[in-house]
Amino acid sequence: MAIVVQKFGGTSVADAEKIRRAAGRALKAHRQGHQVVVVASARGKQTDQLIADALELNPKPPRRELDQLLSTGEQQTVSLMAMALDAMGQKAISFTGAQIRMITDDAHTRARIQSIDADRIRQRLDEGYIVIVAGFQGVDEKGNVTTLGRGGSDTSAVALAAALKAQVCEIYTDVDGIYTTDPRIFPAAVKMDRISYDEILELASLGAGVMHGRSIEFGKKYDVPIHVRSSLNDSPGTLITHEVPQMEGILVSGATLQKELAKITLVGVDNKPGNAARIFAHLATARVIVNDIIQTEVSPEKANLSFTVAKGDLDDACTALEGIREEVGCESLFVRDDIAEISVVGVGMRSHYGVADKLFRALAEAEVNIDSITTSEIRISCIVDIQQGTTALQAVCNAFELDKPATQRKP
Ligand code: ASP
Ligand code: MG
Repeated sequence: MAIVVQKFGGTSVADAEKIRRAAGRALKAHRQGHQVVVVASARGKQTDQLIADALELNPKPPRRELDQLLSTGEQQTVSLMAMALDAMGQKAISFTGAQIRMITDDAHTRARIQSIDADRIRQRLDEGYIVIVAGFQGVDEKGNVTTLGRGGSDTSAVALAAALKAQVCEIYTDVDGIYTTDPRIFPAAVKMDRISYDEILELASLGAGVMHGRSIEFGKKYDVPIHVRSSLNDSPGTLITHEVPQMEGILVSGATLQKELAKITLVGVDNKPGNAARIFAHLATARVIVNDIIQTEVSPEKANLSFTVAKGDLDDACTALEGIREEVGCESLFVRDDIAEISVVGVGMRSHYGVADKLFRALAEAEVNIDSITTSEIRISCIVDIQQGTTALQAVCNAFELDKPATQRKP
């Protein structure tokens, strides 16, 4: 019997009626002959509320205690969901992350999953239960409750699907699937039928807000098909899978605009071996996640080193850098928190020319100035002024026809 994992996000379990609807969906899959594991998020804005409660008492709550608190949001949903199923006459049992030994490291509020004990779940499935697991949480080796970072229930779900060798991991949400870009900024955006792990990884890390980035890494590593779909209807959503040949014909699959970003430049670092290593070791110790790094020699003696970080990590990053500046001969720090990053992503870029040209031309015609450019094999990103972010994204979406299904775009 195939195992199906169904994940319901906060909006899909916001109140009793919605929990009942989600439970009904799980029950339907169960009656169709699947073994069903549900992963649930905290209801509605619960997590935000819990964070607000914490901040009211302490502006810098100890991270361990924050995790202890935040994990209660999901714990409520799963027991309620089990009760809803019980009321429908279906055997159901809920578990916290700790109860299924979802072991993580000890990086509170952004822990990473290390292992899962799938046996306990399997046993219950074999006994005919629908198993409901609290998303977003785990437990470290010492038994402290941890959480996986905001939006982390996706990762719980895909990791469970991988551990259980599930046939599919369905992500139920309040949108129909994944769009070519953010429809709030470019209303003509269309739903994608299918996208590769690599593309969605780029889009997720670029802040497309579709799914927790780590969840896709799990999906890719263990080849779990992920189906992002609406909890309100039965229409197919967007399937995230490994790359298939047709995808190569698509130049650009999606575009993003990321605003929660800052850029730090270390100006005039001594140009000698080991300095970059020293700088990034310092940032790693401070657990700052660094994005696009650019280093350029500006003279035989000096180099400039820039990188971007999430806005929320900016203070930690600057503090860490203060501790290393002198040692690497850095003349000054230049920080910009008034920037946005616009990116286009597509596996087709690997085998087509002219993508960069088209992108830069679209920005030029919209009179958007480019601060810096970074690329990967399947992505081109430009840092622009935050005020021009929206204009830039719209121009790019028009240029790459992201208002049309992939098959209808000009080659
Ligand atoms: N409840 C958590 C959050 O709001 C985790 C999740 O929803 O995935 O971030
Ligand atoms: Mg949530």
